[in-house]
Amino acid sequence: MSVHEHLSEDALLDAVYGIAGIDREAHLRGCAECGRRFSEWQETRAAAAESVEIPVEFLAAQRKKIYERIERPSRKQWLWAPGLAAAFALAIGVFVYHPAAQTPQERRAEISDTQLFGDVYSMEQSVEPAAAAPARALFEEQQ
Ligand SMILES: [Zn+2]
Repeated sequence: MSVHEHLSEDALLDAVYGIAGIDREAHLRGCAECGRRFSEWQETRAAAAESVEIPVEFLAAQRKKIYERIERPSRKQWLWAPGLAAAFALAIGVFVYHPAAQTPQERRAEISDTQLFGDVYSMEQSVEPAAAAPARALFEEQQ
């Protein structure tokens, strides 16, 4: 870095955190413009790092409220819970229960395997693979 170039923002930030190189430190000492920017950044950093004072009265009042809640928990907030649970149960029941959907399943269960294979083979007879012939003969014998 030449002496005539001012420090970049990254270099200035490094200097604020004390990790700039020796040449940058030398530039800061020799250059009024960079020295001014460095001072501004240092003040900004110090202001941001300043701890916020919380009044003792506020903390005491907060602690008192916490102890009150521990000793006397509010029951009001759970009054709606049984109603909500009932509403959920009803909603789930409505969502899951489909009387119309059960009828085809029951009808399907009544179809025996023999009948199913017979139907499938009658539909697919023209393209029946040779290996399936013994299995078909098995089912045809049972009927
Ligand atoms: Zn400079």
